[in-house]
Amino acid sequence: MNSKGILRFLLIVCLFFVTTTSVDAQEERTQDEIDLERMQLYKDMDTVTQVPWHWLAAIDAYERGLNVARNDRDKPTGVISIYFSPRDWVGALNPDLEDTDADRISVFGGIGLDGDGDGQADRHNDADVLYTMARKLSTYGFDDENIRIALWDHYQRDQTVRIIHGHANVFEKFQTIALHDNAFPVPLHYNYSYRSTWGAKRGWGGRRIHEGTDIFAGYSTPVRATTYGTVELKGWNEYGGWRIGIRDLDNIYHYYAHLHGFAEDIEEGSIVTPGSVIGSVGSSGYGKPGTQGKFPPHLHYGIYRDNGYTEWSFDPYPKLRSWEQKERQKS
Ligand SMILES: [Zn+2]
Repeated sequence: MNSKGILRFLLIVCLFFVTTTSVDAQEERTQDEIDLERMQLYKDMDTVTQVPWHWLAAIDAYERGLNVARNDRDKPTGVISIYFSPRDWVGALNPDLEDTDADRISVFGGIGLDGDGDGQADRHNDADVLYTMARKLSTYGFDDENIRIALWDHYQRDQTVRIIHGHANVFEKFQTIALHDNAFPVPLHYNYSYRSTWGAKRGWGGRRIHEGTDIFAGYSTPVRATTYGTVELKGWNEYGGWRIGIRDLDNIYHYYAHLHGFAEDIEEGSIVTPGSVIGSVGSSGYGKPGTQGKFPPHLHYGIYRDNGYTEWSFDPYPKLRSWEQKERQKS
């Protein structure tokens, strides 16, 4: 056994210890404990496979968001959400769809690998699943460009690759996955008001239903990011006026419209934190670029969930209420 082999063996022993000692406590664990366990798995796989941990964390976060949006796959039993279909895992001609024998799976050309050294390749085992994904990526190479190509081959969708890349940038920048804070989109000490109006007929702008919550506030009230995330879109739209779209780490797209202007340092690709100012309240929209004043100044705030094929709007009002309350308790 060369030195790399010994290292791998030692890590496998550690992983086995980590994964087998934590199963019982699954129920009552805090978010901090779950984050710690995930981070340990990502870092261990980074050491074993050389695939940067923030990419593994990003894929896992993307798949966790997908699990919320979809009901056509079995939910993960561990802390890792990366999904392989039973057929891909065991191999096309494998008669046993639940096969966990690593050697047999290999003979049938299944993708499933044994990540924790117990001879089993179990798609319900965190280390096995993460190792399988990392090894798949590592066959393409280790820099961002190669990883993006590997991800495109795996998911066959540009938007998925873009979302995962955004997650990876955020995790790399903050060097942690414990990024769960939120902020209310306008500072609480400004005058503002909002009601639950999701799905209502629009007061202006035609027949589409109202996909969001309107927060009424004076011109140039600061507009803040509500989550950690990446600016996916910035610019003018005939209806939305000056608007910004931010993708958070749950794959949720946050849409801020009718802005008066943008914060100076905000560009597509910028990373934002909860509470960081991205622009200001205005009344832009419903006309050619620069049109404003056709309605009272307000922030239109919408959120959209991604299910791996498409995105749909859901009601931001309950989240807004809870962020507002939490922030009020803090101050
Ligand atoms: Zn609106």
